Amino acid sequence: MPRPRLRRALRRTLAVLAPVALLGALTGPAQADQAAWPEPVPVVNHVETTDPVVFLTIDDGWYHDPAAAKLLLDRRVPASLFLLPGAYAYDSGYFHTLLDQGPSRVENHTVDHPDLTALDAAGQKAQVCGAREAQLAEFGDGARLLRPPYGTYDATTLTTARVCGAKAVVTWTYDMTTWGQWTPPTPELKAGDIVLLHFNETIEQDLKRALAAADAAGLRPAPLRDYVPES
Ligand SMILES: [Zn+2]
Repeated sequence: MPRPRLRRALRRTLAVLAPVALLGALTGPAQADQAAWPEPVPVVNHVETTDPVVFLTIDDGWYHDPAAAKLLLDRRVPASLFLLPGAYAYDSGYFHTLLDQGPSRVENHTVDHPDLTALDAAGQKAQVCGAREAQLAEFGDGARLLRPPYGTYDATTLTTARVCGAKAVVTWTYDMTTWGQWTPPTPELKAGDIVLLHFNETIEQDLKRALAAADAAGLRPAPLRDYVPES
């Protein structure tokens, strides 16, 4: 049996330690779990909507075609631009004009365009959060959508997207990009379809084809970010 003075000291020590232990039991492991396993974001390749809308998305950003920019601005197209930091670093003015004078928004396409499924969690986070930080610094607007390069992703990509501020991983319904000499057949667009284009040498004609297909289907381009719900 401890002597009274020692007992008092022991009680004081326990009084200090007990809440810490309790706090650790309640929040420690739970927080660790949350950090390790955030909720995955949904994958979107088509938006369920009855609105007569279609979504135009333009990737990478290497070829800065003035005619394409004029078309986007003249027709007030709210395009989602999945840009690589390297593609706006040397001429950010092209995209500042699109964002400042029109309804287009910049979204996340990683830093270096890797196949994300070949990277571990830390590698994926560096690619996705790194691109978001570069976009915030350049445009003052953080991406809310992630398009993984090549449309390839795994379970880690879906949680990494959440950690890096995205509410969805976005692929596409139709790729209408002209690749080299090959122009894909023009699809019959339906409400909620997502069209993939690229800032390459044929962007103006590809964009015109996509807009004509939307017109033919009675659909108007709409901002994809606004149609993807918070999840
Ligand atoms: Zn790409």
